Amino acid sequence: MHRRQLLKTLASAAAALPLPLAAQTAAQKSPGSIRITGVDVIVTNPGATAMNNFVLIKISTNQPGLVGWGDATCTGSELGVAKFMEEHLTPGLIGQNPMHSERLWQRLFFLPYYRSGSVQMSAISGVDMALWDIKGKVAGLPVYDLLGGKVREGMLTYTNAGGRDFKQVEDNVRKLMERGYKVIKVQVALPGNDGGYAVPQTAAQAAKTKDAYAAGMPPDEVWDPMAYTRTLPKLFDHLRKTVGDEIELLHDVHERITPSQALQLGKALEPYRLFYFEDPLRPEHLDTFRLMRQQCSTPIAMGEVYTGQWDGLFLITEHLIDYVRHDLAHCGGITTGKKIATFCEPYGILTAWHGPGNISPITHMANAAVSLSIPNFGIQEFATGWGDPVREVFSDVPQYANGQVTVNDKPGLGIDVNEAVARKYPYVRRLRPAIRRPDGTPWAY
Ligand SMILES: [Mg+2]
Repeated sequence: MHRRQLLKTLASAAAALPLPLAAQTAAQKSPGSIRITGVDVIVTNPGATAMNNFVLIKISTNQPGLVGWGDATCTGSELGVAKFMEEHLTPGLIGQNPMHSERLWQRLFFLPYYRSGSVQMSAISGVDMALWDIKGKVAGLPVYDLLGGKVREGMLTYTNAGGRDFKQVEDNVRKLMERGYKVIKVQVALPGNDGGYAVPQTAAQAAKTKDAYAAGMPPDEVWDPMAYTRTLPKLFDHLRKTVGDEIELLHDVHERITPSQALQLGKALEPYRLFYFEDPLRPEHLDTFRLMRQQCSTPIAMGEVYTGQWDGLFLITEHLIDYVRHDLAHCGGITTGKKIATFCEPYGILTAWHGPGNISPITHMANAAVSLSIPNFGIQEFATGWGDPVREVFSDVPQYANGQVTVNDKPGLGIDVNEAVARKYPYVRRLRPAIRRPDGTPWAY
C-alpha cells in the first residue's frame, strides 16, 4: 500500500475508535475527578499551501485516552498565538477540571491584565473547542446534542464563484448551480488590477506572490476602491440578466471601501436583491451602519474580524445588520458562538459563521455544532476542496451535498488529529498581502 494511503487508512481507523470504554465509564462515574494534565500547541501547514498554518490545541487529561482538540488558528498571527498560549494561558489550565468550560473561559480571559484582542481570543477559542470536545466524549454525545440538539439535519451553505471578468464569474456561478448550490458568493477582479479579493490572480500577480513567499516577505498588491465601486453594480446587473433571479447571490466587500462608498453601493445594489452584502465597512467604521440602515434595504452581514462577544453589540440591539458572522476561532469558541446566537434570536438576526479554508476543519466542526442546534441559523460558509494533506491530518471534515453541509454524529466534535502527520508539515511563513491604493496608501485587506 502506498505510504500516504496507508497513513490515511490508519488515521481514519484511529478516528473510528471510540474513547476506551473503561476510561469513558470512569469519567462518566466521576466527572469531578477529571483533571487537565497537559496542553500541546501544534502549528501545522498541511501541504504547505498559502496562508494555511493551522494552530491546533490538544488538551490531555488524567483519564487514559481522553483528549480534546481545538483550533486557535489566527491567520497572520499564528506563532504569536502559539507562544501566548504556551507561556501565558497553559499554566492556568493545568490541574483544572476540563468539564468546567465556562469557568475556564472566564479564567483565561482575565488571566492577562491587558486582555482581549485577536491573539488571546484565538487562544481561548481553541481551548474552548477542546473543552467541549472532551465534554462530548465524556458524555458519549456530539457537541450539538449538548447545545440543545439538532434543529435541522443539514446546513444551507455557499461557496465562492470568483472570476477575472463578468463572463468568468457567470460561468463559475453556473458550475456551482449544477452542483446544487442555492446561494453563491460572487467576486470579480477589477479592470487593470492584477489581484483582488477572492478572485484568481493574473500570472504577473501570481509570480509576484511566489517571489514574495520565497523571500519571506508580504506580497505587494494594488487595489482601487473607486474602480471597485463603479464595477460591482455592473457585475450584478450582468448576473441577474444572465443567470436569472432564482439563484441567491451574495458579495463580500472585505472592508475595502470608504464609508461613503459603502453607502453608495448598498443603495446601488438594492435592485439585485442580494442574499447579503458582507463586511461593507471596517470595524473601525461601525457608526456608518446606522446611515446604511436608514438609506438602503440591502441585507448586511458583519462580524468575521470581531474578537469577542462585545464587539459590535449595538449592531444587534439596534438591528443594523441581518446576519452575524463571527469567527468561532477568534471570538471565544463554541461558548461565545452560542451566546451570540442566543442574543441575536429575539431580534430576528440570523447566523452566518465565518468558515473559510484558512481556519482548520476543527473550527468547521465547531461551527456545525452551533449552527445545527440554534433556531436562528441563517447559512454556513464552508470551504470545499481541502487537499489530501489536510485529510491526512484531520480524521474527518464536514461533507457537502445538494447545497447543504452535514457532519458525523461521533461524540465530541467528531474530529481527531493525526499528530505525527501534523508534525510532518511544520509552520511555513506565508504573510498576507500588503494592500495599497494606486497612490501608495496602505489599505485594508
Ligand atoms: Mg468575509
